[in-house]
Amino acid sequence: MIRAVIAVILAIALLGIDEKVNAGQFVTVNLDPPNEGLNDPEPVDPVGGNDGTTLGEQRMNVLEAAAERWAEFLQLTVEIRIGATFEELECDSASGVLGFAGPTFVAANFINAPETDTWYSISQADTLRGADTQDPGDQHISTTYNVRLDDGDSGCLAGNTWYYGLDGEGPSGTVPLFPVVLHELAHGLGFLTFVELESGEKLNGLDDAYMMFLRDQATGKDWPDMSDEERVDSAVNDPNIVWTGSTVDSMSDRVTASEAFNGGLLRMHAPDELEAGSSISHWTPDADPPLLMEPSRNPGIFDDVDLTSALFDDIGWPVNVLGIEIFQDRFEE
Ligand SMILES: [Zn+2]
Repeated sequence: MIRAVIAVILAIALLGIDEKVNAGQFVTVNLDPPNEGLNDPEPVDPVGGNDGTTLGEQRMNVLEAAAERWAEFLQLTVEIRIGATFEELECDSASGVLGFAGPTFVAANFINAPETDTWYSISQADTLRGADTQDPGDQHISTTYNVRLDDGDSGCLAGNTWYYGLDGEGPSGTVPLFPVVLHELAHGLGFLTFVELESGEKLNGLDDAYMMFLRDQATGKDWPDMSDEERVDSAVNDPNIVWTGSTVDSMSDRVTASEAFNGGLLRMHAPDELEAGSSISHWTPDADPPLLMEPSRNPGIFDDVDLTSALFDDIGWPVNVLGIEIFQDRFEE
């Protein structure tokens, strides 16, 4: 999930999207009813390299472009289907949910699984085993975006509307959909824990690929080794929860804000009050320069997957590019 808070929207340099052929690919599946969301027939003018002629078409173009961006970073071996809808989500004048996403299924103990008795998102599992185990009509990832932004209602994000350009942040008063989709797809691909944070329970008693790299620096315990009660306490134990994966660690000096670290490791988001859909499954918002996978949207990130792909490498996703070049580009600005 990602939230927006009203802030000045910065313009950033344009970054093109390269064509890249993979053995596998992402397919975005439009799950909206006729005349709504991704099928909205309202005529619109082209915007920022998006030539869609209707609102629905422009929305779909952004979703597909962001999926193509992720395809550059991952070694896909099969078709990964992303179910997508635009629906009315929570929103008030000061903040709102921009979107949410997750895997539709999880898998463990499949051929080529990096760890035994450990859950992986279905997209990661199917990619690793080189077989699409979902029925043709089923998706691997489910995503939803907030249609209310396009009402232009001041009661929702002070009237900010979606920007559907593919060329960077839009004008003042808009929220670019592209980086929101990049963020949500990362959750769908496996940037999340399957632990039930209210109870601390592992999903059906098994570890997941993400929680294996969570450590509480207050106790020195890793999440898989904790009791349920200890995980409940740890989930709200800011600033003590860190990521222990070596790939992220090797690249995390790009984050210059010292408060984003604890014991030299990059912190996760673990506020005192549990935030459903947000706690643990994001980096700390103290990371600066900001990262794609923080709980709230940061202007200035457009198609940068920064440490997200490094985390995917840690959890065993086959990664093409660790994103460091792009990450460096941002620091050179
Ligand atoms: Zn999120």
